[in-house]
Amino acid sequence: MTAHPLFDISGRTALVTGSSRGIGLALARGLAEAGCTVVLNGRDGDRIARAAAELPGDLVHTAVFDVTDGPSVAAGIAEVEERVGPLDILVNNAGMQLRAPLLEFTDSDWHRVLDTNLTSAFLTGREAARRMTGRGHGKIVNVCSLQSEVVRPGIAPYAAAKGALKMLTKGMCADWGPYGVQVNGLGPGYIETELTRPLVEDAEFSAWVRGRTPAGRWGRTEDLVGALLFLASPAADFVTGQVLYVDGGMTSVL
Ligand code: NDP
Repeated sequence: MTAHPLFDISGRTALVTGSSRGIGLALARGLAEAGCTVVLNGRDGDRIARAAAELPGDLVHTAVFDVTDGPSVAAGIAEVEERVGPLDILVNNAGMQLRAPLLEFTDSDWHRVLDTNLTSAFLTGREAARRMTGRGHGKIVNVCSLQSEVVRPGIAPYAAAKGALKMLTKGMCADWGPYGVQVNGLGPGYIETELTRPLVEDAEFSAWVRGRTPAGRWGRTEDLVGALLFLASPAADFVTGQVLYVDGGMTSVL
């Protein structure tokens, strides 16, 4: 039996920001396995080249730029379109976390968290959408978080950025929907990556995550792939402005 044609995204071109490791790399691998031409992104050329070598097929490209820097984003996306081809899919995945009590949070750390998790999606989204709206189609997926909905002590700036990213997703949907561009969020729960390593290694916290999650375990990066492929596919052509949480049920229970 073959897959339903509504889920066929082979031949599309996708850029995944922050895909040198972790969730971004898993999402890029999923897109490549679905037959997309994939562009990996990050700030470190060597790390990106190593990540690209891990992916299947010969349809993998790299683009080194910092998603928080407007001119670099504009130049990077222009160069990708020229070298690889028109972007059909943009996944705004790059992100970072700083954990500290809010009273101790410095101005520069606040700006780093907001720039990387929120402003980046505006910069890359705007550059991609300038092209996608002109062509009349495109899919943008913003990687939000369960912390777009709920928060814990020590993570307020990150939650503020991810909550705002949810609303930016809805705003992009409103502005670009009339031009055939669908914009949705993908909201991971607690997923084991470099970003969460200190939490995974904290036995008490790690047990709390398992106990608090109806699925009873931490998420794996591969858990997110199916939801992304759906949001990137024609099956989701009438789905826009939504956040799809892939969190083992955590945001649904007290
Ligand atoms: P990682 O820290 O493992 O990976 C982050 C990636 O982003 C790296 O490839 C990094 O590459 C890249 N990156 C960071 N800053 C920039 C930048 N300024 N420009 C370009 N690339 C950048 O994180 P995860 O894989 O865990 O997280 C991915 C996304 O998922 C993030 O948005 C995160 O907030 C979100 N998320 C993660 C959860 C989790 O439990 N892990 C839960 C909910 C959401 P390099 O440093 O080489 O530039």
